Order: sequence, then C-alpha cells, then structure tokens
Amino acid sequence: MKKKEAVKVTVFGVVQGVGFRPFVYRLAKKLELNGWVKNFGLGVEIWLEDSNSKKFSKFLDLLEKNKPPLSLIKEIKVKKVKAEGFKDFIIKKSEPGETFVFISPDISVCDECLKEMQNPQDRRYRYPFINCTNCGPRYTIVKSLPYDRDKTTMKDFIMCQECKEEYSNPLDRRYHAQPVACPICGPHVELKDARTGSKIENPIESAVALIKKGKILAVKGLGGFHLICDAFNEKAVLKLREIKERKTKPFALMAKSLEIAERFVEVTPEEGNFLLSPQRPIVLLKKRKEIPNIAPFLNEFGIMLPYTPLHYLLMEDLDLIVATSSNKKDAPIIKEEGEGVEELCDYVLTHNRPIFMRADDSVMKVVNKNPLFIRRARGFVPYPQEVPSELKVSSNLIALGGELKDTISIYKNGYIVTSQFLGDLDEYKNFQYFEEALQHLTHLFEVKPEIIISDLHPDFRTTRFAQKMNIPHFQIQHHFAHSLAPMIEHGISPKETVLGVSFDGFGYGDDGNAWGGEFLICNYSSYKRFAHFEYVHLPGGDLASKQPWRMALSYLYELFGEDIPNLDVFADIEKKKIKAVLSQIKYKINAPLTSSCGRLFDAISYLLGIAPLEVEYEAEAPMRLEAISFPVENEFYEFKLINKKPIQISFLPVVTSILNDLKNKKDVSLIASKFHSTIVQVIKEIAIFARGKFGIKTVSLSGGVFLNKIILSLCEKILEREGFRVIRSINYSPNDESLSIGQIAYGLIKLKELKNEQ
Ligand code: ZN
Ligand code: ZN
Ligand code: FE
Repeated sequence: MKKKEAVKVTVFGVVQGVGFRPFVYRLAKKLELNGWVKNFGLGVEIWLEDSNSKKFSKFLDLLEKNKPPLSLIKEIKVKKVKAEGFKDFIIKKSEPGETFVFISPDISVCDECLKEMQNPQDRRYRYPFINCTNCGPRYTIVKSLPYDRDKTTMKDFIMCQECKEEYSNPLDRRYHAQPVACPICGPHVELKDARTGSKIENPIESAVALIKKGKILAVKGLGGFHLICDAFNEKAVLKLREIKERKTKPFALMAKSLEIAERFVEVTPEEGNFLLSPQRPIVLLKKRKEIPNIAPFLNEFGIMLPYTPLHYLLMEDLDLIVATSSNKKDAPIIKEEGEGVEELCDYVLTHNRPIFMRADDSVMKVVNKNPLFIRRARGFVPYPQEVPSELKVSSNLIALGGELKDTISIYKNGYIVTSQFLGDLDEYKNFQYFEEALQHLTHLFEVKPEIIISDLHPDFRTTRFAQKMNIPHFQIQHHFAHSLAPMIEHGISPKETVLGVSFDGFGYGDDGNAWGGEFLICNYSSYKRFAHFEYVHLPGGDLASKQPWRMALSYLYELFGEDIPNLDVFADIEKKKIKAVLSQIKYKINAPLTSSCGRLFDAISYLLGIAPLEVEYEAEAPMRLEAISFPVENEFYEFKLINKKPIQISFLPVVTSILNDLKNKKDVSLIASKFHSTIVQVIKEIAIFARGKFGIKTVSLSGGVFLNKIILSLCEKILEREGFRVIRSINYSPNDESLSIGQIAYGLIKLKELKNEQ
C-alpha cells in the first residue's frame, strides 16, 4: 500500500457560523479524504490524509470555488504534516479559550429556502421564518458567543423532531443552522389592530389587503420594524410623513423584483448586483419616473428588494411599497412592541422571534463600480476589518466616534469590528442605543480595552463618556480621524505619508474653530494642516447649519460688508432679520469661524434658489444642489489660493462669478455643475502642490461631502489621471460613521508608544 500523506490547512476569514465546517465535511467525504475539521480563534483548521496527494489540491480548488455564500476567505495556509492514520473524516469540537470569533451579518433568504417556501409539498410551505446555514438572521439575534442556539433569541423555541434531525445531520443544509425552525416548532406572525390590539385572521393576506386600502402597517423585519404603505397612494404617503414628522426627507422603497424597480429607476449592472446581493442594501438609483412625495427635490429613489421570507410573501401581491425605518423623530429604530410602534401605524404585523440587537437597513450608492455607503448597518455588521500588520498589537481598544451619525469600533487580535449606524447622539434615546451597542460589542467579542479614543470636541457626549471611564483616554482631531479611515481599510503602511482631503459639515479644529474643508499631510501618528478653506463666519452657530440663508449672507458679507446686493432669494426673509444676521457677523456675536465645505455648499445652494429657508435633514441643501447638477470637467470658477501657512483657499471670487452668472440669467443647473467641478479643481491643485512639496503619492478622500457622486467620481478620475493613488472608504461610509475606524488606527499607535515607554 502507498504511504499516506497529510496536510494541515488553515483558513482565515469569516468562516464560522456560516456552514463552513459541514461544507468541508461534505467536500472531504465526496473526495474520500480522512481527517478532521474544527473552528479555532481566527478561522477553521482542516486536517487531510490520503495516499494520493493530488486529491489535496483538488480539495483546495473546490474549497475556494464552492465555499458557502456567507463565508469570506481572507487567507489559506497549507502545511505538510506527518500522517496520523485517520480512518474517517470528522467535525471536531472547538477548543475553549479561543475567543475572537467572527459572526456573520444578517443575510437575505437564499434561493433554496425560497424554493421550498413556494413548494406546496414542502413542510415549510409559506412559512415566513424559513432559513438555513446559508441564510437568515445572525447578528441581530445573537446574545453572546459561541454562536449556539441557546445563545440566540431562538433559545425558547424547542426544535421538533424533524428540525432536530436536519440540525444534527452534517449532510443537511440546515446542519447547525441555529435559527432553524418550522411551522410546528418555530415563531409565528400575528396581525393586530394598533388601536385596540385585537388580532386579525390570515395575517399576511389581510396585511396585503390593508396596505392596498391605504393603511399604514408596522412590519417586523430583521433589525426592527418598518413602516409600510402603498407607494402610489399619495394620501397614505402624506399621512406617513405626518406620523414621522418629515416633510421632505426621502422614504425608502421596497420593490417586488429588479424588473419592477427598473420601471421607476435606471439600474446599471453593478447596481443590480448590489440590489440582488445577499446583504440586500437600499441602493440609491436615478429616477426614471416620478412618484410624488417619496424623494422630493432629489433625482434618486432609494430602493431595496425583499430580504426576509415574510417580505417575499407580502410582495407576492404588491409591486412597490414605502418601507421606512420605524423610528420616532430622533430615536433609534423600534425593535419590539412596547417601544411605541403602535403610535406610528394603523396595524402591526409582528412575530415572536425577538430581536436582540437593532439595526437599520444599509444604504449605498454605486460610484465607479464600488459601493459608497451612506449608512452601513444590517447585512454588513459585524464584518471585521483587518489592520495592516505593522499596526497590530496584542491589547484591545475601543473608539467612540463623534456625535452625529455615530458608530463605535472595537479592536482585538488584529481586527476592527465597527458597530451599525447608531444615529445622532445629541438625542438621549440614540445615546442609549450607543450604550446598548457598546455593551453588546464589548461583551460579544470579550474586549477589555486598555485605552479609549474619542473626538477632540470637548462637549460631545462620547468625549464625556470616555472621560468617565477609568482607562487612558486619547482624543483625536475629527478630520485627522476621517483621513485615517480609508488608510487603514486600504492597508497603507505606517511609513507612508498621505494627503488627507477631508470635507464635511463640521468637526472641532485644533484651533477651536469649526473645520470642514481640510487638507492634511498625515501618517497614522500625526498630521499637519497643509491647506484649508478660508474662514468665514457661522452666524448663529448651530442655527447656520439649519438655515442655509445665513451662510449665503455670511459669504455676501465677506464681499460687500453690510451693503449686500438686492437678491430675489432674500425676498421672503424679513429685512430686520437679515440686518440682525449681518450685524451678528460684524460684531462677531455668536458667529464662530468655519472652514466648512458643507456650509459653502449651503450658501451656494441658497443663492441659486435651490435650498429651502430651513432644512429638515443634514445635507439637504447640498443634496438638492447635486440633484440639479451634472459632471462638467473643464468648466469651473476661478478661486484664489492665499499663500499663508497653512494655505487658504478663498471662494470669494467663485461667489462673485456665480452672482454675475445669476445676474446674466445663466442656467442654474450649469452654474451648480460648474461649482461642483470647482471643488474638484481645488483638490487637484492642492494635491499637485502637496506632491511637489512632500512627495506624497496617495490621496485619501473622506468626509460627508464625498457622498456627492459628482464630486467623488470626478475627483477619482482626475486625480488618477494625474498619477495619484486615490483611496476612499469602500466598506464604510465616508461620513462620520467612519470616524471610529480612523480613531482605532491612531489608538494603535498610541498603544505602541505606551508599551515602549513601559
Ligand atoms: Zn436558506
Ligand atoms: Zn420544527
Ligand atoms: Fe465629519
């Protein structure tokens, strides 16, 4: 007999809780290989034995090709070992004490489960909680690790005999699928009248009928309740707007299928792929046909496809519905009854599988074929981010982010895990959600932080929270943290110096001013402010970000003093008010200085008659401006660089030219487009300048302004053509959601410094 050979294969990545071991088991059985498979701290280990070593490469080939849909292989290591004479292939129990285990995000129902659900012969025919190892709830139902049924919210559902058999058979698709269930033993849906609480028969069919009648329903999904109504029933949509206290903020839609979606929006092949991906995000897509009151003043609809079995059952008889998060104004998404969901709707379609961790839908656009996240939550959390090897330390740390659109990040064993979008923490309820998420992540991943990182802003709740914890606390400037986030994601070495271009609404500067149009020369440990937008006043402080006309006045004041020209756009504002704001600026009363790019967009949007007097949501004025613009590359307005240290970029000549164009009745869309390309031109010039001075090769783009598709795509194109490497967040949002990631990078450097001192 030929001598047995053996190899040990180590697979790193998201390979636990996703059906990887049974998949390996089936593959080994098929190829008649002996040995074992088991989970370990950072992945899966496989031992293979056979006299024909060619089978090993066949195995490895099929391992990568046919891996379970939810798994993510980061690295495979193969080592020759001495055969031990195994007679069979087995799944070994994991050893305790190995703690960093990845958890899969929540994933949409898979094709095989869907087929079963639609088959009248199947025992799960029309069962809204069908799932398997390749699909279903994960992150939102896990209470603690290891990922086992009794550590999830499925604990109280005792499996029936048939489910148990599927669950224990390594050859079954439901082997160790923790949320496995059927109509006999699993959760059930219920439809209730929101006022009286009385139950209604045939919950799903009745729910569909009620939606068609123009009623508003709260429907329990994976990470919380949606509020749902017929997208074409204007009365219902307006009623929903009243309930949510939203006049203009866009509503997300759920379409029955890609084909139905394409009737209302244009879908590129890449966008189609993201729509259909198992993560099922909301994708912003260019409008083809208007539907009133869904996304007023914008040129895109946010659309998603059904992702739970319940959605599929509901959408069998509906084409397009509004499906917006069920949150009261400035509070997180509602996950269970008892949190006031009844106050927001006519009927509640609920179920008895508890949600442990709430999570909103994720929202993205596609730019240059890559995702651009507006909100990262359900479907993507808690995918880990590996850090460059030179930054790895053995200690744990946590970073708390900023204040608006916050996330938190934890670091352990070379990986960062970032929470779902947590909302604006200046609202008390959202701050509770922040505490909930922090508690959950540190518990789940057993993180005992040695240091804690927060923003530089002294009054952020996160800063004060960090100060109260009894561990070393470091603060990092907002735009520096922004710039570091893409660097860590793209594995930039600590030796490299990068130009961080960070444009947003507001971040606390190290001179105490409100920054937001920043060019930083930086590496992970420090930065130098190389250039910034020239300071102007923020008349009224926070109020200036809500009332764009204040920013318009601020720019006009810089040009004309108190003697501003008579413009139509100010006709609706009392003369008295305008005078008061101008003297506020003149006497510097509650008019701090800002270099914000977002506020410049506000001013231009208002001057062009696009922005409302008062915005309802952050970035509304810039978003409306983007909606009427198109990419023009070679037409832009002249700006001025003031040769100080740091360099200051004056937009006063730009405002002057725009006022002239307005006077000459030039097309507003063209003016807006030229303004967009002016911003790109500024970035290009400063980048070339920085290369001449510091030899930088890489430009990191960050901050909420880069959610602007025109700015981002032109910027990537032009900078790449100039020979730069351009990096930006791909797996995270460039807005304040990514602050906590950049903060971790800085924290790792601080930890290393601390260790060296000891
Ligand atoms: Zn499935
Ligand atoms: Zn069962
Ligand atoms: Fe920011």
